[in-house]
Amino acid sequence: MSEVREFCVKMRASRCGEHVSGAERIVDERLVPRAVAALAERALSHEKGSPDFINIKVEEPGEMVRLKALAVATNEVSTAVEGRARAAQLLAEAGVGRANEIMALFRESYSMRGAMLVDADTLERLEPDRERGVRATRMDAADTAVCGVFRGKNHFAEAVVLATKVANAPGIVGEVCVSDDPGYVTGYVAAKSMGYQRITVMKESGDPCGGRIFLYRGPREDVEKCIRFLERQSVIVEGAPSAPNAPGEVRLDGIARELDAIEQAGLSRSCRALRSPTGPTARVDVDGAMRDVVVLASNDYLDLARDPRVTGAAAAAAHAWGAGSGGSRLTTGTQPPHEALERRIAAFKGEEAAILYATGYMANVGVVTALAGKGDVVFSDELNHASIIDGCRLSGADVVVYRHGDMDELARRLAAARACRRRVVVSDGVFSMDGDILDLPRFLAVCRANDAFSVVDEAHATGVVGRTGRGLVEHFGCGHPDVTVGTLSKALGSEGGFACGAEIIVKYLRNRSRPFVFSTAPGAPAVASGEAALAVLEAEPWRVAALRENVAFFLGELAGHDVAARSESAIVSVIVGDERRAVKAAEALLREGFLVSAIRYPTVARGAARLRVAVMSAHTKEQLAAAAAAIARCGM
Ligand code: PMP
Repeated sequence: MSEVREFCVKMRASRCGEHVSGAERIVDERLVPRAVAALAERALSHEKGSPDFINIKVEEPGEMVRLKALAVATNEVSTAVEGRARAAQLLAEAGVGRANEIMALFRESYSMRGAMLVDADTLERLEPDRERGVRATRMDAADTAVCGVFRGKNHFAEAVVLATKVANAPGIVGEVCVSDDPGYVTGYVAAKSMGYQRITVMKESGDPCGGRIFLYRGPREDVEKCIRFLERQSVIVEGAPSAPNAPGEVRLDGIARELDAIEQAGLSRSCRALRSPTGPTARVDVDGAMRDVVVLASNDYLDLARDPRVTGAAAAAAHAWGAGSGGSRLTTGTQPPHEALERRIAAFKGEEAAILYATGYMANVGVVTALAGKGDVVFSDELNHASIIDGCRLSGADVVVYRHGDMDELARRLAAARACRRRVVVSDGVFSMDGDILDLPRFLAVCRANDAFSVVDEAHATGVVGRTGRGLVEHFGCGHPDVTVGTLSKALGSEGGFACGAEIIVKYLRNRSRPFVFSTAPGAPAVASGEAALAVLEAEPWRVAALRENVAFFLGELAGHDVAARSESAIVSVIVGDERRAVKAAEALLREGFLVSAIRYPTVARGAARLRVAVMSAHTKEQLAAAAAAIARCGM
């Protein structure tokens, strides 16, 4: 196991020599840059004003002690006077006799940079440098050490960590503290015997004075040992609670931990800036610089997104009909481009009618939730797209997930659910992460034999599968599913989703499909460009043939490099397995000039990460050959 070192990152900020802010973290080495950035940000945004000096020190913490956080109790009071009286009472209960005098001494600690160290019985001052005081440093909460996201100040958690360290210092019998943050009036007294006693008001709001007193009992010769522990001993505090009085910060704790886990697992995602239209090449951000790379990650398979006929139609429609539709299709959102596109899609797919949605995602959710509800059963292929999975979940129906492409299992499970009200079977036509095709004739036979609705998502089939790109029905020469779902956002180079089938089903969807009823209709520019793209596809079926030829060529090139891959569509998956390796391979490919997606959990199963290549009709053979060679170099 490789050793991950820990570092103590300390920040002190001042203005004209006056302390402004100070904080520290103990984190593993991978998180040091982020801890530095977070502490710098904290120094620069302190309520006390902008510092003119920020000192950030990063050092190895040396041997570390792990301590259990003091138990926390809260004392609700309404005024500062009441709070101070409560503090004195608690100290007295902890066996510190001269509590009132200590509370009076407390005012003197305001001007000190560190804490006052006082003999609990004689009240003699013990700190060697009275101006500086004693500083308790080198400590952090255990979960901050693994938590990759650093937020703003969390007074409470930080205070518990500090109080725990102080209470465990040799000779310390108590501590009193009020923050110097003008907006933070809560203070505490603490000791091993009483735990951490929060007192909700210890000073007036807006008061910039704060300080702390450590109470010592023991021989003078051991004072040095106590100070050494406070100032030099690195401490990790386990079980420090989150702030009870800062709800925002508590909420973010869980978020930060989850984000950290995502990152550690190699599953973190972020957006990459694209500075050109997508085409077979595009200008993208590579390590901070804009570079032209070969794009093997776009679903714009037929290179229609930037076709002048398609973009021209969008521009003309914007001028004629406006940028947005202004309402749902059932209110103001049905304009001539919507009706024209629905007619054209229905004709292209050989169906009676079609219905548009704002996205393909919404089309799947809308169809599944309309067809199936409570008491019904949806049968879903285990590799179906997330939008189908979400539709199943939202429907409230029972969901049966069958093994990928296993029509025998589907038939068995359908037969076993015969008593149910409605049975709906839904499958990707082209599976989006493997690029394989549903066996539509068998699928339809099984559905019909069991009197189940059949729904097929042709998001990656339209414009790709079948001689003229009409999809699986054309490819197999078989009958139609009850509902075919599709999107304009892939081979049609635009955006928007659709479903088509018999008029009665489409009419039902117009009435029952919530994403259709309750979401604004896609705008005329998207709709008109989708129609223009469909017109180009109908007029230029050679694009589909060119795409198929490119896929075959690319698979041949990969095979020539001994890279295993297969595809029945435009999607070619090269399985890598490990998530981090897949990401590294995609990064290496990008540096070589090829934009390829690393697909990881949860899009695919854990340990089934892959490079997903999307081939376009417009890629040149040279680009594809070079990409295959680069994948062989970087991906395996
Ligand atoms: N179905 C499948 C199989 C898909 O891959 C996608 C897009 N990733 C969708 C549906 C959703 O389509 P859209 O991007 O138009 O929302």
